[in-house]
Amino acid sequence: MAVQVTESTPSSPKDSDRPRPGGTPILGPAVALSCRECGQRFDLGPIFACQECFGPLEVAYELPAGDPEGLKKRIAAGPDNIWRYAPLLPVPADVADKPNLNPGFTKLVKADRLAAELGVTGGLYVKDDSGNPTHSFKDRVVAIAVEAARAFGFTTLSCSSTGNLAGAVGAAARRAGFKSCVFIPHDLEAGKVVMAAVYGGDLVGIEGNYDDVNRFCSELIGDPLGEGWGFVNVNLRPYYGEGSKTLAYEICEQLGWRLPDQLVIPIASGSQLTKIDKGLKELIALGLVEDRPYKIFGAQAEGCSPVSAAFKAGHDVVRPQKPNTIAKSLAIGNPADGPYVLDIARRTGGAVEDVDDEQIVDAIRLLARTEGIFAETAGGVTVGVTRKLIEDGVLDPSLTTVVLNTGDGLKTLDAVASGPTATIRPDLDAFRTAGLAG
Ligand SMILES: *Cc1c(COP(=O)(O)O)cnc(C)c1O
Repeated sequence: MAVQVTESTPSSPKDSDRPRPGGTPILGPAVALSCRECGQRFDLGPIFACQECFGPLEVAYELPAGDPEGLKKRIAAGPDNIWRYAPLLPVPADVADKPNLNPGFTKLVKADRLAAELGVTGGLYVKDDSGNPTHSFKDRVVAIAVEAARAFGFTTLSCSSTGNLAGAVGAAARRAGFKSCVFIPHDLEAGKVVMAAVYGGDLVGIEGNYDDVNRFCSELIGDPLGEGWGFVNVNLRPYYGEGSKTLAYEICEQLGWRLPDQLVIPIASGSQLTKIDKGLKELIALGLVEDRPYKIFGAQAEGCSPVSAAFKAGHDVVRPQKPNTIAKSLAIGNPADGPYVLDIARRTGGAVEDVDDEQIVDAIRLLARTEGIFAETAGGVTVGVTRKLIEDGVLDPSLTTVVLNTGDGLKTLDAVASGPTATIRPDLDAFRTAGLAG
């Protein structure tokens, strides 16, 4: 039995280049792109905006419904990476045999010491995506975009990046045999720039912020200079976004095929948050988890909090901001998925909140000191927001809560200027005098 059957809808002049509708094996269970605004369907291809209403497109599937226990077994027998969920992703069935960085299946850490510190009694977990190949959650979304780029015949991978994406694309491009040219704001942290440069390929710093970089990339796509380029987060965005669903799948599987009650998720463009919600809904529809309510909380830095501001003001539209925060990976002043995030937070009974730079640093230290996890600034944002939401009585400490850490503190060292407790001569007297023992 299958759900969501596609119709054949002629979409563009280059239809002959495209996989045929009706579930081509080239992208597994994906059967079409559908508009999130008007529902219009299009053939699978490197398009991202609806040709009727310009709304964003997302992947529609024929998912393997009807045998949840069989599907769980199939997943459990799969590899220890995101490809265990290939039956739910827009990738070919033999994806695990292709050269890819194979991210995912990162640790879900039961954070009892952090829970005690925050007063959480219902079970607190940190989903630690710093364990991915290039040390951020971006490896998940890039892995899917790479398979789409392969299917559509692109030869160069590209992106506009707040830092982590550039590194993830560079590494994945080398591994999968693509050329790459990635674009970042010129003033990123050294850790992000080095990670983006070390894999080779072209790395271009743009004089401007992320929103300027993104605008530049949109122009490049329409220009002959960008011919044959797959921009993972622009013309491949519908596929890229699906990578974030794997966070939802992993969290539920690691909880024993159970939904958490509350999730705290960082927001840059908002794509990750919206696709985690999509993933949770799919698990419910497929009968892999029991259908019960969950709340989604979005986390931003005060210095770039357009979605949080709109949430608090009760607005449906997100007014762009000029970012100024140490959480540079989340510094998108004009988030594409902002209105959808607002909708999800409100529909699930969650909220969107923000913390300032000092609270971000405090939260990075808190997580490190309680759980031995060194998060980048984005992780400081989610932990800091979790603390604030508990203090404000918005997040219920008696419920099972999952907080995402999406990146590695080694990439944002400057945020937590730290040094040795003492520097001494190598002898016991000096150590005794320093008064540290015990
Ligand atoms: C990109 C990124 C996010 C979330 O990005 P979205 O655009 O909202 O999907 C979160 N954390 C880190 C560390 C990132 O690099």
